[in-house]
Amino acid sequence: MVLAYKVRSRLLLLWVMLLSLMGPGITGCATSNNTFSTDKQQLAQQSILSALWVYSAGEYRALCHQAFNIAKLQLDRRLSYHRGIDKPLAIIVDIDETVLSNVPYFNRLIAEGEAFPSGWKAWVGESTAQAVPGALAFLKYARFRGVEVFYISNRSMRDGLTATIDNMVKMEFPFADQHHLLLKKASGNKQPRRDRVEQTHEVILLIGDNLNDFSLIFTDKPTIQRNDAVDMMGSEFGKRFIMLPNPVYGDWEGALYNYQWNTSNAQKLKIREQYFNQ
Ligand SMILES: [Mg+2]
Repeated sequence: MVLAYKVRSRLLLLWVMLLSLMGPGITGCATSNNTFSTDKQQLAQQSILSALWVYSAGEYRALCHQAFNIAKLQLDRRLSYHRGIDKPLAIIVDIDETVLSNVPYFNRLIAEGEAFPSGWKAWVGESTAQAVPGALAFLKYARFRGVEVFYISNRSMRDGLTATIDNMVKMEFPFADQHHLLLKKASGNKQPRRDRVEQTHEVILLIGDNLNDFSLIFTDKPTIQRNDAVDMMGSEFGKRFIMLPNPVYGDWEGALYNYQWNTSNAQKLKIREQYFNQ
């Protein structure tokens, strides 16, 4: 399965590189319709380098391993003084780009000149996402040490629960069941779900690729305030908060548009340029 994934990834890499060399005109012709706007294609094309980095750069993989190695050190440290009479210990992890990688999905989006959420439901339904480097070994280690794992993700509970559990069971993730997967129902705010876990467990680590995976303090803040909050909470990173790299998407981008995801493509391009030129 790993070999097939690597072969497919290489083919996709070649495909994306070919499209990028050919330019937007060819990209439009290569699709089933010719209705792409230039702005939409430009937005998709701007993601090529960050998507390439995620699946081709050893540096990306090294950062993932580093994150889970630090998580293991912190887990061992905390276990060294855990008493049997205390609440049971738990770890909260995000799913996408934290334990499951959606690289083939990004490649489709870029190749088709599309944007999220186009094709997302179908991709989740395939249940073929691979593990983020280091994630599986770490979470299995946590189970071995008697620490429970809760997955708090904004994948849709209604559309994604069964397929996500199938995917995670296939990859042999521990605690991949309905009780431990807390997916999105109505709100994307993860705090109520974190609170629910904290009622019964002591949460010793939170692991994610988005600041929203850690605390409300980062949520819905403009870029500068968001960054200030990170500096204020700086000592928590690598301690209770373990951060995975994700340059392809996230609330960092949403913050640029003031979380108005329905901002027009032309306006998004303009905002990106304005930030870049600041
Ligand atoms: Mg994520």
